[in-house]
Amino acid sequence: MSKTIIVSNRLPVKIIHEGNSFYYVPSEGGLATGLSSIYKEGNNLWVGWPGQNIKKEAEKLQITSDLKKENMIPVFLSKKLIENFYEGFSNDTIWPIFHYFLQFANFDKNLWDAYVEANKIFCAAVIDVAEDGDTIWIHDYQLLLLPQMVRKKLPNVAIGFFQHIPFPSYEVFRMMPWRKKILRGMLGADLIGFHTYDDMRHFLSSVSRLVGIPNSRGRIETGSRIIEVDSFPMGIDYNKYSITAASPKTIDQEIKYRAALGNQKLIISIDRLDYSKGLPKRLEAFETFLNKYPEFQEKVSIIMIVVPSRDNVGQYKDLKEEVDLLVGRINGNFGKLTWTPIHYFYRSFAIESLSAFYRMAHVALVTPMRDGMNLVCKEFIASKLDKTGVLILSEMAGASKELSDAILVNPNNNDQMADAIYQALTMPEEEQVLKISIMQETLKKYSIDHWVNMFMYRLGHIIDVQKSMATKILDEQTIKTISEDFGKAGKRMMFLDYDGTLIGFQPDPQMAKPDNVLLNLIKKLSTNTKNRVVIISGRDKETLDAWLGNLPIDIIAEHGFWLKEKDGQWKPITKLKSNWKNDIRPVIEPYVNRTPGSFIEEKDHSLVWHFRKVETGLGELRSRELTSHLKYLSTGKNLQVLEGDMVVEVKNADVNKGRAAQKWLNTFENDFALAIGDDWTDEDTFKSMPDDAITIKVGNTSSAAKYNVPTHKEVRGFLKILVDK
Ligand code: UDP
Repeated sequence: MSKTIIVSNRLPVKIIHEGNSFYYVPSEGGLATGLSSIYKEGNNLWVGWPGQNIKKEAEKLQITSDLKKENMIPVFLSKKLIENFYEGFSNDTIWPIFHYFLQFANFDKNLWDAYVEANKIFCAAVIDVAEDGDTIWIHDYQLLLLPQMVRKKLPNVAIGFFQHIPFPSYEVFRMMPWRKKILRGMLGADLIGFHTYDDMRHFLSSVSRLVGIPNSRGRIETGSRIIEVDSFPMGIDYNKYSITAASPKTIDQEIKYRAALGNQKLIISIDRLDYSKGLPKRLEAFETFLNKYPEFQEKVSIIMIVVPSRDNVGQYKDLKEEVDLLVGRINGNFGKLTWTPIHYFYRSFAIESLSAFYRMAHVALVTPMRDGMNLVCKEFIASKLDKTGVLILSEMAGASKELSDAILVNPNNNDQMADAIYQALTMPEEEQVLKISIMQETLKKYSIDHWVNMFMYRLGHIIDVQKSMATKILDEQTIKTISEDFGKAGKRMMFLDYDGTLIGFQPDPQMAKPDNVLLNLIKKLSTNTKNRVVIISGRDKETLDAWLGNLPIDIIAEHGFWLKEKDGQWKPITKLKSNWKNDIRPVIEPYVNRTPGSFIEEKDHSLVWHFRKVETGLGELRSRELTSHLKYLSTGKNLQVLEGDMVVEVKNADVNKGRAAQKWLNTFENDFALAIGDDWTDEDTFKSMPDDAITIKVGNTSSAAKYNVPTHKEVRGFLKILVDK
């Protein structure tokens, strides 16, 4: 039976070593809770580092056997590797770059090597337990190379990848020396998930610019595989937080804290110590608030909880000092015997204490400079059983995309943050209740369980899409059957598109001249008297004539407007007027002027705007603009606007490849029809073919064709087999 394997850097367990014994404390984090519904079931597993440097082999065996009972597989990493892979490349290179703290990024080849090595160790651990048909869900930035590594060893598993931190803009990501390797690593997955649409589009743009693979609505087609990229905002265990907020233990804590603090209004601030959390800017904003709105002095305090993290690292040590100084300065300047502006705790708290703070706080101040999601703000909302309270949330947190009823702030805008605190403290209760209610409804629905289910559902869906595509892949057995049938037939008609089908795309369309291998191939096919070879292309007739005119073939040019039988003359399919070009050309020309690298190609019955050489992104943008402009102008004019491979083409609507192919099928007797093409103008050809025809689409996209092949190279290979038949 197939199973699901979760892989993350850390296992959801803490090992406590006492004397000769090990104790295992399960992690209570949201992710562990959410994924427990998966890994604890049946023979499912969670693979990860147990969080400790275990040196002795006997201890490793002991831990492995203990954890096996909990469906966990530990991956042991040496102290050096933890330093260089985890603290090094993961936290000292990827973390700062992905959070836009470029000044902290450490580009060190040794750290990168350790990162590769650690990913290989994780890969070996996964391969050890995974089998064909399994589903593997890999988590986060420590394992960006793992999807591809696993894919290479096990091509027939479903791989999902989720990144819990932001994905930076292409402009930032491209600074990384190992950027392409990282993207290729991620592209080993079938489904790649991020918290927000922005992360997703940053990733897609990096893939298109750095690896050169475009996407269509989040779907990346590599030729051999389809990869889905989507956003899945992670939720919290909503019930856990609302139930904890109602528990007697929490209420007891609240009573105690309240007695100690008096009846001041409270602002809660909870984070791990990290420069991405914006702690100094938050403190400075509070200071501005106290200066700007002095009437709130002695009436409001911040409970500031900073959970220790990585404080042996230089930047974190500096940050800790900066926070300590700021807290000291503000408390020193404003504090009274009876009032402490900031109650500062550098430690972690049990969930009931956190819950009591969430309950008591009038305001939650969550202002990271950058945060993948941020769960604290969601937990605050879920804990507000009476629905009063106000959330101030940074626009730079992933959660801000869902919680638009919070007061959203830019953490760099000191004045705005100070005013937001004022607005929050003076917000009418009715408004608070309304806003919290809306946000609670969202968080209830989009809980951690929903997140897990959605991700698994989408992974299943993309695997189904791939399977249905796979049934159409032109495999060896099918080729054998087709070529046998082809061999038996006496009058064979072959419709072959040119660009993208017989030859790859070139930066300049005039460079796609047929090479000798191709010319020989077409010659051999067309000199066989049983074959009738028809090149069916969108190109102009002059070029096709110059390139292929010497061969004994039929040519259909300009999407079916010009027709030439072997040994015959060019004839138009019907009489068409093309004076529309005089109106449309001046519309396209400004796009050429505005877009360096683009140009107009004029055919007898169409105008084509090429943008293959235009700066990536700009060309696509202008092509969308031009397409909608042309579509608007062409209504009622019997014109058709086509979006092809890096081209926008306007042509007479009466002309299409299908109509031309139909003419051939009706005129010349045949007992075997074959059509091969790569873009959507070829779909007309496929549709015009008889039911028993063999139709082949180049590229793994959906099509009316019966079969798919990845590239023009496979087309040539296939035609070579037919030569001898
Ligand atoms: N948290 C905790 N103990 C504490 C303070 C915070 O367990 O003393 C938890 C908090 O409840 C939240 C998590 O730490 O679930 C922080 O998650 P978030 O996404 O906000 O930030 P991250 O640390 O993952 O960047």
